[in-house]
Amino acid sequence: MGHNEHELPLAKKMAKELNMIFFPKLNWEPGYSSVKNADFVKMEAGMSVVSKDEYQKKYKKVYLLPCVQFWVSPQINWDGKLLGCCQNLWGDFGNVFAQGFETCLTGERFVYAKKMLCGEAKTRGDIPCTKCSLYKEILQNPLKKKDIVFSRF
Ligand code: SF4
Repeated sequence: MGHNEHELPLAKKMAKELNMIFFPKLNWEPGYSSVKNADFVKMEAGMSVVSKDEYQKKYKKVYLLPCVQFWVSPQINWDGKLLGCCQNLWGDFGNVFAQGFETCLTGERFVYAKKMLCGEAKTRGDIPCTKCSLYKEILQNPLKKKDIVFSRF
């Protein structure tokens, strides 16, 4: 984002010191604090695009990274609710504080949601994705194995 793009070098340095993967994502809301210095951000973030629009133009597909979080970095709310992805405002898949992370990750609804995202299971109303605008894209272009990786672009 434009307001903190100058902190990319510091964030990379901190990640290295903490032995963590540095994995930047594109700004979700293009109308808010868009990138100011695209060349700098591309170089520092190791990315070939700096916005969802640019991604769609370049790769001829919608930016679906949030969905991939179900596999590579399942999102957990501050109160322990397993959300799966950062876009999910509509429901959870159990509470990792109360039930444990493994139990939630292997829960029937979480596993079913992943199958839905890959087009291997029918749409089911109790899965939060059905309320998400990106799910329409998923129905047209379900995730493929090659999409489900930590990858830069
Ligand atoms: S469809 Fe929406 S709610 Fe479901 S994983 Fe993708 S971004 Fe998240």
